[in-house]
Amino acid sequence: MNFEKSRALHAQASQLIPGGVNSPVRAFKGVGGNPLFIERGEGPYMYDADGNRFIDFVLSWGPLILGHAEPSVVGAITKQALKGTSYGAPTALETELAALITGAMPAIEMIRFVSSGTEATMSALRVARAFTKRNKILKFEGCYHGHADFLLVHAGSGVATLGLPDSPGVTAANATDTLTAPYNDLEAVEKLFASNPGQIAAIIVEPVAANMGLVLPENGFLEGLRAITEREGALLIFDEVMTGFRIGGAGGVQGLTGIRPDLTTLGKVIGGGLPVGAYGGRREIMQMVAPVGPVYQAGTLSGNPLAMAAGIATLKKVFEPGFYEKLEAKMKVLTAGMDVACKESPVPVYFKSVGTKFGLFFTGEEVHNYAEAKKADTKAYARFFWNMIEQGIYLAPSQFEAGFLSSAHTDEHIEQTIAAARRSFAALVEQPTA
Ligand SMILES: *Cc1c(COP(=O)(O)O)cnc(C)c1O
Repeated sequence: MNFEKSRALHAQASQLIPGGVNSPVRAFKGVGGNPLFIERGEGPYMYDADGNRFIDFVLSWGPLILGHAEPSVVGAITKQALKGTSYGAPTALETELAALITGAMPAIEMIRFVSSGTEATMSALRVARAFTKRNKILKFEGCYHGHADFLLVHAGSGVATLGLPDSPGVTAANATDTLTAPYNDLEAVEKLFASNPGQIAAIIVEPVAANMGLVLPENGFLEGLRAITEREGALLIFDEVMTGFRIGGAGGVQGLTGIRPDLTTLGKVIGGGLPVGAYGGRREIMQMVAPVGPVYQAGTLSGNPLAMAAGIATLKKVFEPGFYEKLEAKMKVLTAGMDVACKESPVPVYFKSVGTKFGLFFTGEEVHNYAEAKKADTKAYARFFWNMIEQGIYLAPSQFEAGFLSSAHTDEHIEQTIAAARRSFAALVEQPTA
């Protein structure tokens, strides 16, 4: 494959934009080489500037559950754009999307739209602190909740790839109210509550972690968090920015497990590929938010009509009967094929999937937390990644990111991907990683 144009575009971009990208993971630091500059997407495919076609399993990092340029989403955006792109005044679209989401996730009684997942988690935690009148928050190592200062502590994926334990620019004062525990470690959580009595406002957790690679909660972990927070008077926040409408069908992990968090953060799928985030939860907590309550949170483009239209069009599709059954059946086919391919692989590797999301770890042992995730062989992943690219399969350019399926992927794309993975695994011994 030829990547000349991408290379030139990246060189140009790098003169004006740090690293030539507007979000670090796009720079391919986790796999080396140059990022591909994308020209267009259609269904399951992305086309780069050199005209190469890829089956896309990144899907804009999760949002595109219907694939690229899905006609009903494009139609909804176009129709709205003709009527104006933003008013700075409320529209009925916001209530319509709010109703679709609260109908699917019963733990969300009221919701506020923002423009990114970062804003959603930051705002949810502000509300949690105001509601509980406590300052500290507890997060898990390797969980990513956006790039707010106080959340950039043991934050997984993008930060992991860059090898920055934290980020310069985040003050010590900002980080001191952030406590961290290993994922899946209830005992560590208990200890933190014991040593910070009456001080922890909330636990925020990715209920299925997907920013350190895909790591599942062990049996009892989420239930334990619910029990501990209830006992301690702290709030439980499920960050479902990535799992929302991806795992557990339309109900998220909270629907799948029956665990009701006090607050939920959303993003990605609910914007149908446009910039959206949201936070919501118990009515009495959400009524802390201005203008009803004293907690200030605002946004010039919050609830943007184009984004609302894209979100509504997307959710209407996923609510169609059988949508998730079909998508999850496809994921089963991919998983079964990848399991066999992994077993045959000359290097240790395993594949894991849940809902419409998957992960791949180059390690012989199953990963339960960030410390274990970091032991996986990133060099092997990098070789695998480029080998897949050469075969027209676009995976996340980092082992610490998840992969996604869309309704536009067919059985044929999946078979092609499994066959390509087999060849890529086999190629790893021909060019050993050292
Ligand atoms: C992507 C993500 C975020 C941040 O969302 P942005 O829209 O990128 O700001 C927060 N939490 C989780 C779990 C995410 O996956």
